[in-house]
Amino acid sequence: MKYTDEQICTQLYDTPSRHHGAVSPPIYQTSLFAFDTFEAFTQAHSDEQNNYVYTRGVNPTTEILEKKLAKLERGEKCKCFGSGMGAISSVFLSLLQKGEHVLFVNSIYGPTQQLVNHLENFGIEHSYTEEDVEGAIRPNTKLIYVESPGTMVMKIVDLMKITALAMKHGIYTAIDNTWATPIFQKPLTLGFDLSIHSLTKYIGGHSDVVGGAVIGSSTLIDRIFTYGYLLNGSVLSPQDASQIIKGLRTLPLRMKQHEDSAARVIDFLQTREEIKVIHHPSLQEKDLVKNQMSGYSGLLSFELKEGGFEHVASFINNLSTFKIGVSWGGYESLVFSPVKRDNASDLRKQGLDPGLIRLSIGLENADELIADLKKGFHAIELVKP
Ligand SMILES: *Cc1c(COP(=O)(O)O)cnc(C)c1O
Repeated sequence: MKYTDEQICTQLYDTPSRHHGAVSPPIYQTSLFAFDTFEAFTQAHSDEQNNYVYTRGVNPTTEILEKKLAKLERGEKCKCFGSGMGAISSVFLSLLQKGEHVLFVNSIYGPTQQLVNHLENFGIEHSYTEEDVEGAIRPNTKLIYVESPGTMVMKIVDLMKITALAMKHGIYTAIDNTWATPIFQKPLTLGFDLSIHSLTKYIGGHSDVVGGAVIGSSTLIDRIFTYGYLLNGSVLSPQDASQIIKGLRTLPLRMKQHEDSAARVIDFLQTREEIKVIHHPSLQEKDLVKNQMSGYSGLLSFELKEGGFEHVASFINNLSTFKIGVSWGGYESLVFSPVKRDNASDLRKQGLDPGLIRLSIGLENADELIADLKKGFHAIELVKP
């Protein structure tokens, strides 16, 4: 049965009949589940993945979220985690062994890079590539890990080219799909083995919860369940799962609005002479986008012609609707920059511009956001030498 994304996000798997008719699934805020007989207990305990035994296992509230996310991504199974990093760690911990290699394609989320640096201590190797993926594959490459779009300069890479290569070489593929959400990109349908999310961003959508998810085949998720979840212990609380289910209800609607408002903001930014370049997939190769994405989220960045800490700081300090902070994907617009007083050479090494500013376009009125950005541009005019 084929379901629309809207059906999945609203009613699918809520099953009121299991919960006294409650349309909003109850929060099973319990650590353990008790049994009528010792026989029933021992049977369930020997298969924690398919029985309610302990919440660091399967919980009925979290399970509803997992089923919805698996269906949205067109995967067989999903496991949720206490954070996006919990989900990412689980993939490395479950799929990789000493002596094996991970190939990273495109720019990668900073903490993910820190994590694989640490995994060097356990004999797991890694390297990065931007273009020549086949040339970067090693005999011991076990996993190709991709972000597309990336989340600093939003670059996209050819996903089907990567999955074709991985298939040829018998390598697992995983993608961090947080930027696009399953509404705009379904990587499993493009051949990926695993799709990973930080639920903290658009899927939660209200900046009130931290969570993560991995979606893929039953075989892979079963492996991740044991070694990356049960034993690693990055549990999503049932309360948080319930908030994320609530976030999902409006995800398709919110993504449309983020997309429309971001397009309005980009049109405005294109008129500003202070800007060198704007980064957003809507401004990249249209053919490639068409093959793998069906829309654009609201995370974008741009480079000021005159960068440096002072300019970046006065632009940001003069915004008021845009709040200053990490993260993105919530209802509220956010501004962030990796520029610090003393990190110009670090930025250069990462290929980041000293005038880079990132905006997360929230659900405020686009006119209000544009008016706010005008105040930022006005401020940097004043600091010009
Ligand atoms: C935020 C983020 C993560 C990590 O998610 P947490 O929920 O903060 O642990 C991973 N990948 C990307 C692209 C992110 O933006």
